Amino acid sequence: MKVLITGVAGFLGSHLCDRFLAGGHEVVGMDNFLTGSPGNFAHLLGDPRFHFIEHDVTNFVYIDGELGGVLHFASPASPVNRLEKPIQTLKVGSLGTHRTLGLARAKGARYLLASTSEVYGNPQVHPQSEGYHGNVDPVGPRGVYEEARRFAEAMTMAYHRYHNLDTRIARIFNTYGSRMRPDDGRVVSSFIVQALRGEPITIYGDGSQTRSFTYIDDLVEGIYRLFFSDRVEPTNIGNPGEFTICELAELVIAKVGATPVIHQPLPEDDPQFRRPDISVAREVLGWEPRVALDAGLDRTIEYFRGIIGESAFPLSPVA
Ligand code: UDP
Repeated sequence: MKVLITGVAGFLGSHLCDRFLAGGHEVVGMDNFLTGSPGNFAHLLGDPRFHFIEHDVTNFVYIDGELGGVLHFASPASPVNRLEKPIQTLKVGSLGTHRTLGLARAKGARYLLASTSEVYGNPQVHPQSEGYHGNVDPVGPRGVYEEARRFAEAMTMAYHRYHNLDTRIARIFNTYGSRMRPDDGRVVSSFIVQALRGEPITIYGDGSQTRSFTYIDDLVEGIYRLFFSDRVEPTNIGNPGEFTICELAELVIAKVGATPVIHQPLPEDDPQFRRPDISVAREVLGWEPRVALDAGLDRTIEYFRGIIGESAFPLSPVA
C-alpha cells in the first residue's frame, strides 16, 4: 500500500514512516520543516519506496496517483513549539486536517488522525478512558493545541459519518525516544539533556503532577495496528505506567549522575494527572506497551549522549 504521512520530519512521523517501510509499504512523506528536521528521514533518501514532498498541509494538498492511506501527523507538538506557534498549531489542526481528509476522500484512502491525550485537558476522571469528554479551557494558553485536536477529531468523525470515509483516531499520550529535539521543552528530553550537561534539572511546580510515558517503538506499533484495524472511534495509545515528575527526575539522576534540581513555576493549565486506560487497545488491537520506563530511558539517554557528543550539533538552551 502507498500511504501519505504528514509531519514526516518530526519525531513521531519519521518513526512511523520507518514502520510502514518495514511493513513493505510505500511512503510519501510531507513536511514544511516548521518544527521537524530533514535529518530525521535522511537515512531513507536512497530508498525507492520513500518519496518526500516539502509542503505546508494547510494549503491544498496534491498527490499524484493512487493512495491507500493518509496519516496526519503534522503539528507543532512540544509545549515550547505550541506556545511559540499558536496560530500555525490551530491551522494545521483545522485547515490541515480538512485538506488531508479531503485528499483521503478523493483517493478513497483510509485516514488516521494523530490526536492526543490533550483532548482530555486537565482531567477530572482518572485514568482517562476514551469515553471521558475532557476538561479543556478553550482560551487558556494550551487551548490552541487542545482545541485544534478536538476540532480535528470532530472533523474526522464528520467525514466518517457524512462522507462514509474510513477513519481512525489515535489519542497519543506522552511519548519519548530517539529523534526528540534536545531543546523542545518536553520533560523527558529536557531532564536527560540537563543531566548530561551537568545543568540543574528544572521541575515545574512541586513535581507531584503525573504523566505516563510511552516509548516510541511501542507507540508506533500501536498506531500501525490501529491503522490496519476496524476501530473507528478514538483509541488511547499510551503506557499506563504513571510517574510523578519528581520520580522521573530521580530516575534520570540515578542513571546519568548527580545534578542539582531547581523548581520553576508550573505552566498555566498544566494537567495534574494523566494516565491512559488502554482496555480498548488491548482488546481491539491486541496491543500493549512492552518497554518499561527504566529500559526506555536507558535507550533514550544513549541517543542523547550520542548527539550531544557530536560537537557540531547545535544545542540551544533548554527551557
Ligand atoms: N516539566 C517539568 N520540567 C521541564 C519540562 C516539563 O517539570 O523542564 C513538567 C511539565 O510542567 C508537565 C510535565 O513535566 O507537568 C510534562 O511536560 P511535557 O511538556 O513533557 O508534556 P505535557 O505537559 O504536554 O504532558
